[in-house]
Amino acid sequence: MTLVMKFGGTSVGSANAMRETAQLIQKTKQAWNQIIVVASGMGSKPIKITDLLLQGAYSAFDGDDNTYKEIADQMRRIHFETIDGLLEPEGERQKILAENQRFISHYEALCQAVCVLGELTPRALDAISGMGEQMSVPILAAYLRQEGIPAQAVDATNLIVTDNNFQSANPDFGLTTIKVQAALRPLLENNIIPIVTGFVGATPNGITTTLGRGGSDFSASILGQSIKANEVWIWTDVDGVMSADPRIVDNAVSIPVLSYREVSELAYYGAKVLHPKTMRPCIENNIPLRIKNTFNPTHPGTVIVDHKSNGNGGIKAVTGIKNLSMITVEGTGMIGIPGIAARTFSAVARTKVSVLLISQASSEQSICFAVPESQNETVVNSLRTEFAEEIKRRDIDSVWALHDVSIVTVVGAGMRGTPGVSGRIFSSMGEHHVNVIAIAQGSSECSISIVIDGDDTAAAISHIHNIILEL
Ligand code: ADP
Ligand code: ASP
Ligand code: MG
Repeated sequence: MTLVMKFGGTSVGSANAMRETAQLIQKTKQAWNQIIVVASGMGSKPIKITDLLLQGAYSAFDGDDNTYKEIADQMRRIHFETIDGLLEPEGERQKILAENQRFISHYEALCQAVCVLGELTPRALDAISGMGEQMSVPILAAYLRQEGIPAQAVDATNLIVTDNNFQSANPDFGLTTIKVQAALRPLLENNIIPIVTGFVGATPNGITTTLGRGGSDFSASILGQSIKANEVWIWTDVDGVMSADPRIVDNAVSIPVLSYREVSELAYYGAKVLHPKTMRPCIENNIPLRIKNTFNPTHPGTVIVDHKSNGNGGIKAVTGIKNLSMITVEGTGMIGIPGIAARTFSAVARTKVSVLLISQASSEQSICFAVPESQNETVVNSLRTEFAEEIKRRDIDSVWALHDVSIVTVVGAGMRGTPGVSGRIFSSMGEHHVNVIAIAQGSSECSISIVIDGDDTAAAISHIHNIILEL
């Protein structure tokens, strides 16, 4: 039986957290024959090492030759304190300190180059942002060895092969499986626990890539598929997937069981607890996925399985994404003309911006869709170019963006066949003066998304959450 366990930033965020994590690894090893651990870079809220690494790089790009040095000092303090707190001086302490020091010096050298050249490519961002995992993993592995648990740090740049879509690279499962089997099987057979860096991978010629922010969850399921694991567990700092973001809603409750589809919708629509790509390898290989709390390990957390659960009167969770723009293409001349939608989305695709939600009225007079606020100008310009002729002829009256909107999504497979759920949601929005700008329902009837003014986000989430608790 093989288990992949991923520990998030807070689970390795301090010497104490690493101790808890090591204990969990040791305990679980007794029940599971073979364990693979994936770890994130250190993160104690609100500071995540990945954020610091990126912040320094961007400030260097802006010509600031100082901030990255301060950040390097801060990272030294965080990592050295953890190493000193965990590793005995007569053991591997010096070796691991020196290794972390090398990464931080390399970070400074890269940022200095960015500052001098005034250039920060996606490739450089990946080399820089992946260092958090490359520093934390050797610490955890050395601590486990010190505690008598055979463990070996493994850099996923030697395991996970990806394309060169830096900052959101896609794995090549064929090549990855060959590498994972060759590198990890011998360790597992020798009873050694591989401790693998989350988040990072490399192109076939060895250039470091990352899987996107929060991507260590995805690393775990990629390894799960490649090693044919029986289960994948994600250890984080909350009791599993909750009915709402506990930072927004203080009476959010843990959800015991969710289907792959439900959790995919939640992750896609902003629930940060799982990276949205995590589910696919699990769905395709029927690998159950659990989300558990490192700091409350006896809580069962959430199990994600392949069944259409129907509970809670239809809805289970609500989530939101802020900082979006709603872009509208409208005009009476669009009615009945084939190809407008196709051309709209081709023009968007050329900008490489991904569309989060689409809504079209049946009269065909307008098409609206949501994109990240930061990218609305690029998208609007591309559409105005695409439809220059139609705009001149007044077939299309305007292409415009509504700023600072949010998508709030309600998720639950039981909505199918439970009439009245959407009615309750919209009545509640009306009662609380939340104006609904657009609506989209997934054809699976597993989610309903509404677009609202950004300022109403927290209120809409908590009013909808009250409905979930009442059901
Ligand atoms: P990790 O470093 O362990 O991957 P993350 O910060 O990426 O942790 O994800 C866990 C956090 O996700 C939680 O601390 C919580 O604040 C946030 N979160 C947002 N929505 C949800 C939700 N629906 N259920 C649980 N956690 C959520
Ligand atoms: N450390 C990376 C990030 O902060 C990956 C992860 O935490 O999953 O995005
Ligand atoms: Mg995460």
